[in-house]
Amino acid sequence: ADIREPQPGSGQPPRKLPPGVVLDKDGKPSKASFMSLAHKQAKPSSKASAGAATAAATAAAATASLQPANDCPADVETLGRSTWTLLHSIAATYPKAPSHTQQSNLKSFMGLFSRLYPCWVCAEDFESYMEKEKIRVGSRDEFGKWLCEAHNAVNTKLGKDTFDCSKWEERWRTGWKD
Ligand code: FAD
Repeated sequence: ADIREPQPGSGQPPRKLPPGVVLDKDGKPSKASFMSLAHKQAKPSSKASAGAATAAATAAAATASLQPANDCPADVETLGRSTWTLLHSIAATYPKAPSHTQQSNLKSFMGLFSRLYPCWVCAEDFESYMEKEKIRVGSRDEFGKWLCEAHNAVNTKLGKDTFDCSKWEERWRTGWKD
């Protein structure tokens, strides 16, 4: 089924969309409205009537069946790029002189991350890397370089060029010097 709006001038009346569905520029249900409906379905507010919850559930199901899911779940490359962006951005915003708590939080986060990363082979290798190369969290630069080296170890494993770790901050925090 296709619930795209007919083109203006096509002579067809606009079709009725499920309540709460917002269309993107291309006339397809937007991802945001799908997510919002799915959220409402999971957590109906105390005021919402059973009827409204059912309507939202029906709309979410209708939208889900129309939503092409070819980017879901993310593949290893997309997941990897996004994850490196997150990790290097954490390094870029990590304090120059972190408190004991901040250091401990970062260690815990990275320890859990290496066990939960949803590419199991990647996670296993990364966990072994972390066992060999103890994480350094004493300062922004220390963690930034450690992470850069960890990323390089993956680059090497995948046959990619390594990155010059003296430039990690230019890449992820300050922008290139020239
Ligand atoms: P990415 O490697 O994703 O890098 C993104 C950007 O980071 C680059 O464009 C570059 O500007 C910058 N960059 C590159 N190297 C560095 C560095 N050393 N320091 C700072 N910045 C850098 N894929 C697999 O196929 N097998 C695996 O075992 C595997 N393990 C992974 C483990 C982890 C923890 C993560 C986060 C990802 C892993 N991946 C793995 C995914 C892989 O590393 C890449 O993310 C993916 O192949 C896409 O690569 P890319 O060339 O787009 O750039």
